[in-house]
Amino acid sequence: MKCPFCRHGDTKVLDSRPDAEGRSIRRRRQCLSCDKRWRTVEQIEDEMPLVIKKNGTFQPFDRLKLLTSVEVSCGKRPVSRADMEKLIANIEWNLLESGIDTISSIDLGENVMDGLKQLDEIAYIRFASVYRRFKDVGELMAEVEDLLHHQRDSNNEAKSN
Ligand SMILES: [Zn+2]
Repeated sequence: MKCPFCRHGDTKVLDSRPDAEGRSIRRRRQCLSCDKRWRTVEQIEDEMPLVIKKNGTFQPFDRLKLLTSVEVSCGKRPVSRADMEKLIANIEWNLLESGIDTISSIDLGENVMDGLKQLDEIAYIRFASVYRRFKDVGELMAEVEDLLHHQRDSNNEAKSN
């Protein structure tokens, strides 16, 4: 972002505050050249990295599409709409904070999977099975077993505490 006073290209963000819905962010910025300060309200969509698809083409970050795929994976599972929204918003803010220009659709899928794993394991398996396109049932089972082990480990931890 350019300084509105002297048009210098480098500015510093002094603080960032997302709004309640997580759709926009208020920032205080300072120019690194003239030191003047100003406030901005930025929309997430303005700054999201482009998504590189497997075939090498770019497409804009599509939060609705991601949300829909999460909704489908969470069908009939005890996951609230608010939790799904939060999952996507978390991914968006992490991407914004990382400041990257592009992300591969594969990495984006991994981000969603990480989030789903915390929310609901069945939803996670459903999403993963589509996203990673398991080659065969053996791969799917390996993933399930991996999950069960993790679950057992965390149950044991809970007991010993
Ligand atoms: Zn300036």
